Amino acid sequence: MKLPNFEYLAPSSPAEVVALLAAHPGEAKIIAGGQSLLPTMAFRLAQPAYLVDLRNVEGMNRIVIDDSGVRLGARTRWRDIEDDARLATAHPLLKEAITHVAHYQVRNRGTVGGSLAHADPAAEMPCIAATCEAELTLLGPEGERRMKAADFFLGPLTTALSDDEMILEVRLPRWPAQRRWAFLEFARRPGDFALGGVALYYDLDAENRACNTHIGVVGACYYSKRLPIAESALDGKRVDAETARAVARAASEEADPTSDFHASAEYRKSLVGTLLERALVTAAQRTS
Ligand SMILES: Cc1cc2nc3c(=O)[nH]c(=O)nc-3n(C[C@H](O)[C@H](O)[C@H](O)COP(=O)(O)OP(=O)(O)OC[C@H]3O[C@@H](n4cnc5c(N)ncnc54)[C@H](O)[C@@H]3O)c2cc1C
Repeated sequence: MKLPNFEYLAPSSPAEVVALLAAHPGEAKIIAGGQSLLPTMAFRLAQPAYLVDLRNVEGMNRIVIDDSGVRLGARTRWRDIEDDARLATAHPLLKEAITHVAHYQVRNRGTVGGSLAHADPAAEMPCIAATCEAELTLLGPEGERRMKAADFFLGPLTTALSDDEMILEVRLPRWPAQRRWAFLEFARRPGDFALGGVALYYDLDAENRACNTHIGVVGACYYSKRLPIAESALDGKRVDAETARAVARAASEEADPTSDFHASAEYRKSLVGTLLERALVTAAQRTS
């Protein structure tokens, strides 16, 4: 289907982007990789009169790694994350999760900021942001503000971003070398959106018990968020087969997916339990 008519704008700084959004309230949309927005427009689910392209805005595709963690500019593509060998140690959970995003062609264009703003609960990046306590930097007419991912995702395809704001970058806190982690998901075909997935990490205390457990899901909650009940079922325990089963059961009960054309809610809940049990085994076997 052909796209509806729109006027194309290509500003060169974040301030200009925000000024254009503010000049056309409710009528302008940012375009980054176009991999979610253009299909939405083709189906007439969105008909913005103006598209504000980020391609000429410099410095928005930087990956910065320092003592505080990893900062991803909003225009960082999946491909940039895949190609950055530093992330294998700086944030292995992110790097692994991104390998599950779509196909090569989509990964070559799709961006971190676009995925966070689109806020699909079946997408990997919102899951990683929510699970890892990411912080987003937003820019609007009043200046910058920072927001935790936990406050950013409000519902499926719904965020706390205003019409005249943009995402500048997302920060993932520092990743300790000894952390245990796993990311697993299941899709019918490689590259398809997952029917369900889990992101897991925890640290070990002096007595080899799990602490600081973080669990998030892909495609199995109303929006991207953590599963605090399942997390507390693991904290303070040694990770053995019995604990893994109990935590997986808790996660399965806590997940609140919806049924759709692809799978029922019951199936997705069961999938979360199965994947999390496997993820716990994988994470426990990791030595770094
Ligand atoms: C065939 C196919 C398969 C896919 N499979 C997957 C998958 O398995 N997993 C997955 O996670 N995704 C998948 N995607 C989605 C893909 O990853 C998208 O690229 C991504 O969700 C959106 O990024 P984008 O840069 O293309 O954003 P765009 O499509 O350009 O924009 C999406 C939305 O974000 C807004 N936006 C973009 N950048 C900003 C910004 N900096 N600040 C504020 N708002 C902004 C836009 O206005 C728009 O509302 C798939 C897409 C396709 C076409």
